[in-house]
Amino acid sequence: MATEIKEVVSGFSNTMKAKCRVVRKVDAARVRRELLEVEKSQSLCARGSGISYADMILNDQNSILDFSNLDKILEWDALTGVILLETGVKIGTVLRLAHQHGWHLHCCPGSPDITIGGAVSNNVHGKDSSSFGNFGKQVLEIKMLGTDGQEYFLRADQPDDAALLEAVIGGIGLIGIIMEVKLQLGRIPSPFVIAKNEISPNIEATLENLDRDDGYPFKVAWCDAFATGSSLGRGYVSMACWDKCDESVELSRLSKSLHPSKRVLDLFPPKPFWYCGRPFFGAYAIKKLNSLMYARALVSDRLSKGSSSRRQLFSEFNFVHNKLPKMNDVYKPHGFIEIQPLIPRSAGHEAVRALLDLCQKKGWQSLLCGIKRHSPDQYMLSYADDGYSIGIDVALRGRTKSDVVRISNMIFDFVIECKGRVYLAKDELLPPGKFAQMYPRLSEFITLKNHMDPGKVLMSDMGRRLKI
Ligand SMILES: Cc1cc2nc3c(=O)[nH]c(=O)nc-3n(C[C@H](O)[C@H](O)[C@H](O)COP(=O)(O)OP(=O)(O)OC[C@H]3O[C@@H](n4cnc5c(N)ncnc54)[C@H](O)[C@@H]3O)c2cc1C
Repeated sequence: MATEIKEVVSGFSNTMKAKCRVVRKVDAARVRRELLEVEKSQSLCARGSGISYADMILNDQNSILDFSNLDKILEWDALTGVILLETGVKIGTVLRLAHQHGWHLHCCPGSPDITIGGAVSNNVHGKDSSSFGNFGKQVLEIKMLGTDGQEYFLRADQPDDAALLEAVIGGIGLIGIIMEVKLQLGRIPSPFVIAKNEISPNIEATLENLDRDDGYPFKVAWCDAFATGSSLGRGYVSMACWDKCDESVELSRLSKSLHPSKRVLDLFPPKPFWYCGRPFFGAYAIKKLNSLMYARALVSDRLSKGSSSRRQLFSEFNFVHNKLPKMNDVYKPHGFIEIQPLIPRSAGHEAVRALLDLCQKKGWQSLLCGIKRHSPDQYMLSYADDGYSIGIDVALRGRTKSDVVRISNMIFDFVIECKGRVYLAKDELLPPGKFAQMYPRLSEFITLKNHMDPGKVLMSDMGRRLKI
Protein backbone atom coordinates (compact mmCIF):
# COMPACT_ATOMS: atom_id res chain seq x y z
CA MET A 1 0.00 0.00 0.00
CA ALA A 2 1.53 3.33 -1.08
CA THR A 3 2.19 6.02 1.51
CA GLU A 4 2.60 9.75 0.99
CA ILE A 5 4.04 12.36 3.26
CA LYS A 6 5.24 15.98 2.95
CA GLU A 7 8.89 16.23 3.91
CA VAL A 8 12.03 18.27 3.47
CA VAL A 9 14.50 16.37 1.30
CA SER A 10 18.08 16.94 0.23
CA GLY A 11 20.72 15.17 -1.86
CA PHE A 12 24.11 13.70 -0.93
CA SER A 13 25.89 17.06 -0.81
CA ASN A 14 23.41 18.51 1.71
CA THR A 15 23.49 21.94 0.13
CA MET A 16 19.94 22.29 -1.17
CA LYS A 17 16.63 21.47 0.42
CA ALA A 18 13.11 21.16 -0.97
CA LYS A 19 9.70 20.54 0.53
CA CYS A 20 8.13 17.73 -1.43
CA ARG A 21 5.24 15.30 -1.32
CA VAL A 22 7.08 11.95 -1.22
CA VAL A 23 5.13 8.88 -2.36
CA ARG A 24 6.63 5.57 -1.24
CA LYS A 25 5.83 1.86 -1.72
CA VAL A 26 4.42 2.44 -5.18
CA ASP A 27 3.44 -0.30 -7.63
CA ALA A 28 2.87 -0.01 -11.38
CA ALA A 29 -0.83 0.82 -10.96
CA ARG A 30 -0.06 3.64 -8.54
CA VAL A 31 2.68 5.03 -10.80
CA ARG A 32 0.27 5.05 -13.76
CA ARG A 33 -2.36 6.80 -11.62
CA GLU A 34 0.15 9.41 -10.47
CA LEU A 35 1.17 10.06 -14.08
CA LEU A 36 -2.36 10.39 -15.38
CA GLU A 37 -3.86 12.32 -12.47
CA VAL A 38 -1.12 14.83 -11.83
CA GLU A 39 -2.68 18.26 -11.34
CA LYS A 40 -2.02 21.01 -13.84
CA SER A 41 1.28 22.81 -13.18
CA GLN A 42 2.32 20.05 -10.77
CA SER A 43 5.06 17.55 -11.55
CA LEU A 44 6.66 14.25 -10.50
CA CYS A 45 10.31 13.39 -9.99
CA ALA A 46 11.47 9.75 -9.89
CA ARG A 47 13.84 8.72 -7.12
CA GLY A 48 15.95 5.61 -6.61
CA SER A 49 18.21 5.72 -3.56
CA GLY A 50 18.24 9.51 -3.71
CA ILE A 51 22.01 9.83 -3.54
CA SER A 52 22.60 12.09 -6.48
CA TYR A 53 24.22 15.17 -5.10
CA ALA A 54 21.73 18.02 -5.39
CA ASP A 55 18.64 19.30 -7.24
CA MET A 56 18.42 16.44 -9.76
CA ILE A 57 16.35 14.59 -7.16
CA LEU A 58 14.53 17.55 -5.63
CA ASN A 59 11.12 18.80 -6.73
CA ASP A 60 10.19 21.72 -4.54
CA GLN A 61 6.43 22.07 -3.80
CA ASN A 62 5.86 19.08 -6.09
CA SER A 63 6.03 15.27 -5.82
CA ILE A 64 8.73 12.64 -5.63
CA LEU A 65 7.98 8.99 -6.48
CA ASP A 66 10.32 6.80 -4.47
CA PHE A 67 11.11 3.45 -6.10
CA SER A 68 13.28 1.87 -3.43
CA ASN A 69 10.60 -0.76 -2.72
CA LEU A 70 10.66 -2.06 -6.31
CA ASP A 71 13.67 -4.17 -5.51
CA LYS A 72 13.04 -7.63 -6.96
CA ILE A 73 15.25 -9.62 -9.27
CA LEU A 74 12.57 -10.86 -11.68
CA GLU A 75 14.61 -13.26 -13.85
CA TRP A 76 18.14 -14.57 -13.71
CA ASP A 77 19.87 -16.95 -16.09
CA ALA A 78 23.22 -18.08 -14.71
CA LEU A 79 24.10 -19.69 -18.07
CA THR A 80 23.71 -16.59 -20.23
CA GLY A 81 24.21 -13.84 -17.62
CA VAL A 82 20.94 -12.13 -18.59
CA ILE A 83 19.15 -10.53 -15.66
CA LEU A 84 15.79 -8.75 -15.41
CA LEU A 85 15.48 -6.26 -12.56
CA GLU A 86 12.93 -3.96 -11.04
CA THR A 87 14.07 -0.36 -11.08
CA GLY A 88 14.84 -0.11 -7.35
CA VAL A 89 17.26 -3.07 -7.18
CA LYS A 90 20.63 -1.90 -5.87
CA ILE A 91 23.89 -2.45 -7.68
CA GLY A 92 25.22 -4.29 -4.61
CA THR A 93 22.34 -6.79 -4.82
CA VAL A 94 23.17 -7.56 -8.45
CA LEU A 95 26.87 -8.03 -7.70
CA ARG A 96 26.11 -10.32 -4.77
CA LEU A 97 24.23 -12.68 -7.06
CA ALA A 98 26.37 -12.28 -10.17
CA HIS A 99 29.74 -12.76 -8.48
CA GLN A 100 28.64 -16.10 -7.05
CA HIS A 101 28.06 -17.36 -10.61
CA GLY A 102 31.04 -15.90 -12.50
CA TRP A 103 29.26 -12.83 -13.93
CA HIS A 104 29.90 -9.13 -13.49
CA LEU A 105 27.93 -5.89 -13.70
CA HIS A 106 30.12 -3.36 -15.53
CA CYS A 107 30.47 0.35 -14.72
CA CYS A 108 29.84 0.10 -11.00
CA PRO A 109 29.95 3.59 -9.49
CA GLY A 110 31.47 4.24 -6.07
CA SER A 111 28.45 3.23 -3.98
CA PRO A 112 26.74 -0.21 -3.96
CA ASP A 113 23.48 1.47 -2.89
CA ILE A 114 22.82 3.06 -6.28
CA THR A 115 19.68 1.66 -7.93
CA ILE A 116 19.36 0.33 -11.45
CA GLY A 117 16.90 3.16 -12.34
CA GLY A 118 19.37 5.75 -11.04
CA ALA A 119 22.28 4.06 -12.83
CA VAL A 120 20.42 4.07 -16.16
CA SER A 121 19.11 7.62 -15.78
CA ASN A 122 22.60 9.01 -15.18
CA ASN A 123 24.26 6.43 -17.46
CA VAL A 124 26.79 6.09 -14.67
CA HIS A 125 30.46 5.31 -15.13
CA GLY A 126 32.90 3.14 -13.20
CA LYS A 127 36.61 2.54 -12.97
CA ASP A 128 36.29 0.43 -16.14
CA SER A 129 34.54 3.08 -18.23
CA SER A 130 37.54 3.74 -20.45
CA SER A 131 37.79 0.05 -21.38
CA PHE A 132 34.07 -0.84 -21.32
CA GLY A 133 31.99 2.33 -21.72
CA ASN A 134 29.18 3.55 -19.49
CA PHE A 135 26.34 1.66 -17.81
CA GLY A 136 23.95 1.91 -20.76
CA LYS A 137 26.12 -0.36 -22.87
CA GLN A 138 24.93 -3.48 -21.02
CA VAL A 139 21.22 -2.60 -21.25
CA LEU A 140 19.22 -5.05 -23.39
CA GLU A 141 15.69 -3.82 -22.66
CA ILE A 142 13.86 -1.18 -20.68
CA LYS A 143 10.21 -1.31 -19.67
CA MET A 144 9.07 2.27 -19.21
CA LEU A 145 5.80 4.01 -18.34
CA GLY A 146 5.20 7.13 -20.40
CA THR A 147 3.34 10.16 -19.08
CA ASP A 148 0.44 9.04 -21.32
CA GLY A 149 0.16 5.96 -19.07
CA GLN A 150 1.36 3.65 -21.87
CA GLU A 151 3.98 0.93 -21.42
CA TYR A 152 7.02 1.21 -23.70
CA PHE A 153 9.28 -1.81 -24.26
CA LEU A 154 12.56 -0.44 -25.57
CA ARG A 155 15.04 -2.94 -27.00
CA ALA A 156 18.66 -2.17 -27.71
CA ASP A 157 18.60 -4.45 -30.78
CA GLN A 158 15.60 -2.65 -32.35
CA PRO A 159 16.66 0.26 -34.60
CA ASP A 160 13.17 1.80 -34.15
CA ASP A 161 13.79 2.16 -30.41
CA ALA A 162 17.22 3.73 -30.77
CA ALA A 163 16.22 7.41 -30.53
CA LEU A 164 14.09 6.91 -27.42
CA LEU A 165 16.78 4.79 -25.76
CA GLU A 166 19.37 7.45 -26.53
CA ALA A 167 17.22 9.91 -24.60
CA VAL A 168 16.16 7.64 -21.70
CA ILE A 169 19.66 6.34 -20.92
CA GLY A 170 21.33 9.31 -19.26
CA GLY A 171 18.02 11.22 -19.51
CA ILE A 172 17.98 12.26 -15.80
CA GLY A 173 14.49 10.82 -15.32
CA LEU A 174 12.73 13.32 -17.58
CA ILE A 175 11.43 11.11 -20.41
CA GLY A 176 9.51 8.30 -18.70
CA ILE A 177 9.40 6.16 -15.58
CA ILE A 178 11.72 3.16 -15.84
CA MET A 179 10.00 0.16 -14.29
CA GLU A 180 12.22 -2.76 -15.33
CA VAL A 181 15.64 -3.18 -16.92
CA LYS A 182 17.15 -6.25 -18.60
CA LEU A 183 20.94 -6.38 -18.59
CA GLN A 184 23.60 -8.56 -20.19
CA LEU A 185 26.26 -9.19 -17.56
CA GLY A 186 29.88 -9.98 -18.48
CA ARG A 187 31.77 -13.22 -17.79
CA ILE A 188 34.57 -13.12 -15.20
CA PRO A 189 37.00 -15.81 -14.04
CA SER A 190 36.46 -15.06 -10.33
CA PRO A 191 35.17 -12.26 -8.08
CA PHE A 192 38.76 -11.42 -7.16
CA VAL A 193 41.05 -8.81 -8.67
CA ILE A 194 44.79 -8.28 -8.53
CA ALA A 195 45.18 -4.65 -7.53
CA LYS A 196 48.15 -2.35 -7.18
CA ASN A 197 48.98 1.34 -6.86
CA GLU A 198 51.41 3.02 -9.24
CA ILE A 199 53.02 6.25 -8.16
CA SER A 200 52.92 9.27 -10.42
CA PRO A 201 55.12 12.26 -9.63
CA ASN A 202 52.82 14.75 -11.38
CA ILE A 203 49.61 15.12 -13.35
CA GLU A 204 51.26 14.26 -16.67
CA ALA A 205 52.47 10.89 -15.33
CA THR A 206 49.01 10.24 -13.91
CA LEU A 207 47.35 10.86 -17.29
CA GLU A 208 49.95 8.81 -19.17
CA ASN A 209 49.21 5.90 -16.88
CA LEU A 210 45.44 6.28 -17.42
CA ASP A 211 46.07 6.34 -21.21
CA ARG A 212 48.11 3.13 -21.15
CA ASP A 213 46.43 -0.04 -22.42
CA ASP A 214 48.27 -2.42 -20.09
CA GLY A 215 45.79 -5.15 -19.22
CA TYR A 216 44.31 -3.29 -16.23
CA PRO A 217 40.67 -2.55 -17.10
CA PHE A 218 39.98 -0.80 -13.77
CA LYS A 219 41.80 2.43 -13.04
CA VAL A 220 41.26 5.49 -10.87
CA ALA A 221 43.83 8.07 -9.87
CA TRP A 222 44.11 9.92 -6.60
CA CYS A 223 45.85 13.28 -7.08
CA ASP A 224 47.28 15.88 -4.76
CA ALA A 225 45.65 19.07 -6.00
CA PHE A 226 47.60 21.13 -3.43
CA ALA A 227 51.10 20.19 -4.67
CA THR A 228 52.67 22.99 -6.65
CA GLY A 229 54.82 23.48 -9.76
CA SER A 230 56.08 20.35 -11.44
CA SER A 231 54.57 18.21 -8.63
CA LEU A 232 51.02 19.40 -9.23
CA GLY A 233 48.71 16.38 -9.50
CA ARG A 234 51.21 13.91 -8.01
CA GLY A 235 49.59 10.84 -6.52
CA TYR A 236 48.96 7.28 -7.53
CA VAL A 237 46.80 5.28 -9.87
CA SER A 238 44.87 2.40 -8.28
CA MET A 239 44.53 -0.27 -10.93
CA ALA A 240 43.12 -3.76 -11.03
CA CYS A 241 42.58 -6.71 -13.35
CA TRP A 242 40.59 -9.91 -12.80
CA ASP A 243 42.39 -12.69 -10.98
CA LYS A 244 42.27 -15.70 -13.29
CA CYS A 245 42.13 -18.20 -10.42
CA ASP A 246 38.93 -20.17 -10.49
CA GLU A 247 38.00 -19.63 -6.86
CA SER A 248 34.59 -18.90 -5.38
CA VAL A 249 34.06 -16.55 -2.47
CA GLU A 250 32.50 -16.99 0.94
CA LEU A 251 29.08 -15.38 0.82
CA SER A 252 29.58 -13.62 4.15
CA ARG A 253 32.76 -11.88 2.90
CA LEU A 254 31.09 -10.90 -0.37
CA SER A 255 28.02 -9.52 1.42
CA LYS A 256 30.16 -7.55 3.88
CA SER A 257 32.06 -5.93 1.02
CA LEU A 258 28.80 -4.78 -0.57
CA HIS A 259 27.50 -2.79 2.38
CA PRO A 260 28.78 0.42 3.88
CA SER A 261 30.57 -0.39 7.13
CA LYS A 262 28.79 0.63 10.34
CA ARG A 263 32.01 2.27 11.51
CA VAL A 264 34.55 4.58 9.90
CA LEU A 265 37.58 2.46 8.95
CA ASP A 266 35.73 -0.33 10.81
CA LEU A 267 36.68 1.43 14.08
CA PHE A 268 34.84 4.65 14.87
CA PRO A 269 31.10 5.42 15.05
CA PRO A 270 30.46 7.81 12.12
CA LYS A 271 28.41 10.56 13.79
CA PRO A 272 30.91 11.63 16.49
CA PHE A 273 33.87 10.85 14.21
CA TRP A 274 32.79 13.22 11.43
CA TYR A 275 31.49 15.77 13.93
CA CYS A 276 34.91 15.95 15.61
CA GLY A 277 36.60 15.96 12.20
CA ARG A 278 34.73 19.06 10.92
CA PRO A 279 37.18 21.74 12.17
CA PHE A 280 40.08 19.84 10.53
CA PHE A 281 38.46 19.12 7.20
CA GLY A 282 39.59 22.31 5.51
CA ALA A 283 42.22 23.24 2.94
CA TYR A 284 45.15 23.51 5.39
CA ALA A 285 44.67 20.12 7.01
CA ILE A 286 43.92 18.35 3.74
CA LYS A 287 47.03 19.84 2.17
CA LYS A 288 49.12 18.32 4.99
CA LEU A 289 47.21 15.04 4.79
CA ASN A 290 47.81 14.86 1.03
CA SER A 291 51.57 15.29 1.56
CA LEU A 292 51.50 12.52 4.14
CA MET A 293 49.50 10.22 1.88
CA TYR A 294 51.87 10.78 -1.02
CA ALA A 295 54.94 10.21 1.21
CA ARG A 296 53.39 6.99 2.54
CA ALA A 297 52.66 5.78 -0.99
CA LEU A 298 56.25 6.55 -2.01
CA VAL A 299 57.72 4.64 0.93
CA SER A 300 55.50 1.65 0.31
CA ASP A 301 56.43 1.73 -3.40
CA ARG A 302 60.15 1.81 -2.59
CA LEU A 303 59.89 -0.98 -0.01
CA SER A 304 58.12 -3.20 -2.53
CA LYS A 305 60.44 -2.08 -5.35
CA GLY A 306 57.45 -0.96 -7.40
CA SER A 307 55.86 -4.39 -7.55
CA SER A 308 53.40 -4.45 -4.68
CA SER A 309 50.15 -6.06 -5.59
CA ARG A 310 47.29 -7.33 -3.53
CA ARG A 311 44.52 -9.79 -4.17
CA GLN A 312 41.10 -8.63 -3.05
CA LEU A 313 37.46 -8.88 -3.97
CA PHE A 314 36.41 -6.55 -6.78
CA SER A 315 33.84 -5.12 -4.38
CA GLU A 316 36.53 -4.34 -1.79
CA PHE A 317 38.59 -2.60 -4.49
CA ASN A 318 35.68 -0.68 -5.98
CA PHE A 319 33.66 0.53 -3.00
CA VAL A 320 36.28 2.38 -0.98
CA HIS A 321 33.57 4.72 0.33
CA ASN A 322 32.15 1.73 2.25
CA LYS A 323 34.93 2.20 4.79
CA LEU A 324 33.92 5.85 5.23
CA PRO A 325 30.17 5.69 5.96
CA LYS A 326 28.27 9.00 6.09
CA MET A 327 31.40 10.89 5.09
CA ASN A 328 29.27 13.75 3.74
CA ASP A 329 28.47 14.55 7.41
CA VAL A 330 31.95 16.04 7.74
CA TYR A 331 30.86 18.99 5.59
CA LYS A 332 27.73 19.75 7.61
CA PRO A 333 26.04 22.14 8.22
CA HIS A 334 27.10 24.01 5.04
CA GLY A 335 27.62 21.02 2.78
CA PHE A 336 30.01 20.72 -0.15
CA ILE A 337 29.90 20.96 -3.90
CA GLU A 338 31.55 18.77 -6.46
CA ILE A 339 32.15 19.96 -9.98
CA GLN A 340 33.25 17.04 -12.13
CA PRO A 341 34.50 18.23 -15.51
CA LEU A 342 35.15 15.75 -18.31
CA ILE A 343 37.99 17.18 -20.40
CA PRO A 344 38.38 15.61 -23.86
CA ARG A 345 41.77 14.07 -24.62
CA SER A 346 41.91 16.27 -27.72
CA ALA A 347 42.45 19.25 -25.38
CA GLY A 348 45.73 17.62 -24.29
CA HIS A 349 47.24 16.83 -20.90
CA GLU A 350 48.07 20.51 -20.56
CA ALA A 351 44.34 21.30 -20.28
CA VAL A 352 44.03 19.12 -17.18
CA ARG A 353 47.09 20.81 -15.67
CA ALA A 354 45.61 24.22 -16.53
CA LEU A 355 42.34 23.25 -14.82
CA LEU A 356 44.15 22.17 -11.62
CA ASP A 357 46.18 25.39 -11.84
CA LEU A 358 43.05 27.50 -12.18
CA CYS A 359 41.52 25.80 -9.12
CA GLN A 360 44.71 26.38 -7.17
CA LYS A 361 44.84 30.09 -8.06
CA LYS A 362 41.24 30.51 -6.87
CA GLY A 363 41.74 28.50 -3.63
CA TRP A 364 39.52 25.75 -5.04
CA GLN A 365 41.94 22.83 -4.75
CA SER A 366 39.90 19.66 -4.69
CA LEU A 367 39.87 18.12 -1.22
CA LEU A 368 39.50 14.70 -2.78
CA CYS A 369 40.73 14.74 -6.35
CA GLY A 370 39.89 11.56 -8.26
CA ILE A 371 40.66 11.25 -11.98
CA LYS A 372 39.32 8.64 -14.41
CA ARG A 373 39.55 7.93 -18.15
CA HIS A 374 36.29 7.70 -20.11
CA SER A 375 35.13 6.67 -23.56
CA PRO A 376 32.44 8.12 -25.82
CA ASP A 377 28.92 6.76 -26.42
CA GLN A 378 25.73 7.58 -28.29
CA TYR A 379 23.36 8.82 -25.56
CA MET A 380 22.03 12.37 -25.82
CA LEU A 381 22.91 13.72 -22.36
CA SER A 382 25.61 11.20 -21.59
CA TYR A 383 28.54 12.09 -19.39
CA ALA A 384 30.86 10.22 -21.74
CA ASP A 385 33.69 11.15 -24.08
CA ASP A 386 37.26 10.17 -24.90
CA GLY A 387 38.72 12.11 -22.03
CA TYR A 388 39.43 12.51 -18.33
CA SER A 389 37.03 13.31 -15.49
CA ILE A 390 38.39 15.31 -12.58
CA GLY A 391 36.53 15.52 -9.28
CA ILE A 392 36.74 19.00 -7.77
CA ASP A 393 35.32 18.76 -4.23
CA VAL A 394 35.03 22.01 -2.32
CA ALA A 395 33.65 22.57 1.20
CA LEU A 396 31.23 25.51 1.39
CA ARG A 397 32.18 26.56 4.91
CA GLY A 398 33.66 30.08 4.83
CA ARG A 399 32.73 30.78 1.20
CA THR A 400 30.23 33.35 0.02
CA LYS A 401 27.52 32.41 -2.45
CA SER A 402 28.69 35.05 -4.93
CA ASP A 403 32.27 33.69 -4.84
CA VAL A 404 31.04 30.14 -5.39
CA VAL A 405 29.00 31.26 -8.42
CA ARG A 406 31.83 33.39 -9.83
CA ILE A 407 34.52 30.72 -9.55
CA SER A 408 32.31 27.87 -10.70
CA ASN A 409 31.47 29.93 -13.80
CA MET A 410 35.19 30.37 -14.50
CA ILE A 411 35.59 26.60 -14.31
CA PHE A 412 32.55 26.06 -16.56
CA ASP A 413 33.95 28.52 -19.14
CA PHE A 414 37.26 26.71 -19.11
CA VAL A 415 35.48 23.37 -19.61
CA ILE A 416 33.47 24.79 -22.52
CA GLU A 417 36.66 26.13 -24.10
CA CYS A 418 38.03 22.56 -23.95
CA LYS A 419 34.76 21.24 -25.48
CA GLY A 420 34.10 19.34 -22.27
CA ARG A 421 31.10 18.93 -19.98
CA VAL A 422 30.35 18.55 -16.27
CA TYR A 423 28.54 15.62 -14.65
CA LEU A 424 24.88 16.44 -13.99
CA ALA A 425 24.50 13.86 -11.16
CA LYS A 426 26.79 16.04 -9.05
CA ASP A 427 25.94 19.48 -10.38
CA GLU A 428 23.95 22.27 -8.75
CA LEU A 429 25.50 25.40 -10.25
CA LEU A 430 25.53 25.10 -14.03
CA PRO A 431 23.51 27.89 -15.72
CA PRO A 432 21.24 26.86 -18.65
CA GLY A 433 23.27 28.66 -21.34
CA LYS A 434 26.49 26.92 -20.36
CA PHE A 435 24.64 23.60 -20.09
CA ALA A 436 23.54 23.96 -23.73
CA GLN A 437 27.12 24.68 -24.77
CA MET A 438 28.40 21.57 -23.01
CA TYR A 439 25.72 19.18 -24.25
CA PRO A 440 25.45 19.63 -28.04
CA ARG A 441 22.53 17.17 -28.38
CA LEU A 442 20.38 19.05 -25.88
CA SER A 443 17.94 20.42 -28.49
CA GLU A 444 17.32 16.86 -29.78
CA PHE A 445 16.66 15.79 -26.20
CA ILE A 446 14.22 18.65 -25.61
CA THR A 447 12.35 17.85 -28.84
CA LEU A 448 11.93 14.26 -27.68
CA LYS A 449 10.98 15.36 -24.17
CA ASN A 450 8.27 17.66 -25.59
CA HIS A 451 6.96 14.80 -27.72
CA MET A 452 6.90 12.24 -24.87
CA ASP A 453 5.90 14.61 -22.09
CA PRO A 454 4.21 17.71 -23.51
CA GLY A 455 2.76 18.68 -20.10
CA LYS A 456 6.19 18.48 -18.38
CA VAL A 457 4.76 16.00 -15.90
CA LEU A 458 8.24 14.63 -15.21
CA MET A 459 10.35 17.41 -13.79
CA SER A 460 12.92 18.20 -11.10
CA ASP A 461 14.45 21.35 -9.66
CA MET A 462 17.46 20.65 -11.89
CA GLY A 463 15.22 20.31 -14.97
CA ARG A 464 13.68 23.72 -14.22
CA ARG A 465 17.08 25.31 -13.48
CA LEU A 466 18.50 24.01 -16.76
CA LYS A 467 15.35 25.02 -18.68
CA ILE A 468 14.68 21.54 -20.06
C1 LIG B 1 29.48 7.90 -2.66
C2 LIG B 1 29.06 8.12 -4.09
C3 LIG B 1 29.88 7.68 -5.11
C4 LIG B 1 29.51 7.87 -6.45
N1 LIG B 1 30.33 7.41 -7.42
C5 LIG B 1 29.96 7.55 -8.72
C6 LIG B 1 30.77 7.01 -9.77
O1 LIG B 1 31.83 6.44 -9.52
N2 LIG B 1 30.31 7.13 -11.04
C7 LIG B 1 29.12 7.72 -11.33
O2 LIG B 1 28.75 7.78 -12.51
N3 LIG B 1 28.35 8.26 -10.36
C8 LIG B 1 28.75 8.18 -9.07
N4 LIG B 1 27.94 8.70 -8.10
C9 LIG B 1 26.67 9.33 -8.49
C10 LIG B 1 25.57 8.27 -8.58
O3 LIG B 1 26.01 7.15 -9.31
C11 LIG B 1 24.35 8.82 -9.33
O4 LIG B 1 23.95 10.00 -8.74
C12 LIG B 1 23.22 7.78 -9.35
O5 LIG B 1 22.30 8.15 -10.33
C13 LIG B 1 22.50 7.68 -8.00
O6 LIG B 1 21.59 6.60 -8.05
P1 LIG B 1 20.26 6.61 -7.17
O7 LIG B 1 19.68 5.25 -7.20
O8 LIG B 1 20.52 7.21 -5.85
O9 LIG B 1 19.35 7.57 -8.05
P2 LIG B 1 18.70 8.97 -7.61
O10 LIG B 1 19.78 9.85 -7.13
O11 LIG B 1 17.54 8.73 -6.74
O12 LIG B 1 18.19 9.47 -9.04
C14 LIG B 1 19.12 9.81 -10.05
C15 LIG B 1 18.37 10.16 -11.33
O13 LIG B 1 17.68 9.01 -11.80
C16 LIG B 1 16.30 9.29 -11.97
N5 LIG B 1 15.57 8.04 -11.67
C17 LIG B 1 15.73 7.22 -10.62
N6 LIG B 1 14.89 6.17 -10.73
C18 LIG B 1 14.19 6.34 -11.89
C19 LIG B 1 13.16 5.61 -12.56
N7 LIG B 1 12.69 4.49 -12.07
N8 LIG B 1 12.69 6.10 -13.73
C20 LIG B 1 13.16 7.25 -14.25
N9 LIG B 1 14.13 7.98 -13.66
C21 LIG B 1 14.64 7.54 -12.49
C22 LIG B 1 16.02 10.41 -10.99
O14 LIG B 1 14.88 11.16 -11.36
C23 LIG B 1 17.30 11.23 -11.12
O15 LIG B 1 17.24 12.02 -12.27
C24 LIG B 1 28.28 8.53 -6.77
C25 LIG B 1 27.46 8.98 -5.73
C26 LIG B 1 27.84 8.78 -4.40
C27 LIG B 1 26.94 9.28 -3.31
